[in-house]
Amino acid sequence: MPDPLGPLFDALESINNELTGFAARLARLEDAGSVRRAAGGPGSGGEGAGEAGARAPGAPVVWHKLSADERGALWIEFAAWVVRMADQYELTTEQLPHACWWEHGAVVAELTALWTGWESAYGNEEDAAAGPYLWHDAWSRGIERIGRMWLGECTNGYHNEKSRTLWGTDPAYRKKILDAGPPGAAGKPKAA
Ligand SMILES: [Zn+2]
Repeated sequence: MPDPLGPLFDALESINNELTGFAARLARLEDAGSVRRAAGGPGSGGEGAGEAGARAPGAPVVWHKLSADERGALWIEFAAWVVRMADQYELTTEQLPHACWWEHGAVVAELTALWTGWESAYGNEEDAAAGPYLWHDAWSRGIERIGRMWLGECTNGYHNEKSRTLWGTDPAYRKKILDAGPPGAAGKPKAA
């Protein structure tokens, strides 16, 4: 005689398999979400994260190589991170000028590297070894270098364009360099 409860057990088993699958999927999503939240700070886990959320935490950012959408989304995350760190570490305008830090390519590049480094150091829930400690070393050196090398007059609190010629907008300049050729070219003295 067939077991009258057989079909019921079959159905329960199928539901159980489905639930196991869902639980595994949820765990994976939670893992990915917690990494993003830990790494990106405010906004990174929300709807606005968009494409930026697809980026692996700690992946290097080369601003001019990003799509416009990606650049916009990451800039929001990056700016929020810089402002939060400035407050957390009580940076003064001598260290990072409140009025214009984003106007300076070198400053943005330094801070971007520190940001992605921070994501790497703090972006997982496993043993990060000396990551956070080493990041603080890089942070203090980076901030020191920003004030010493990249800011000039702006540490007074007022943005001051550096007085220099733009190299990249002068085709004649580029031609001059290309015509000179690399070291070792025919007719040139041997360079080191
Ligand atoms: Zn400035």
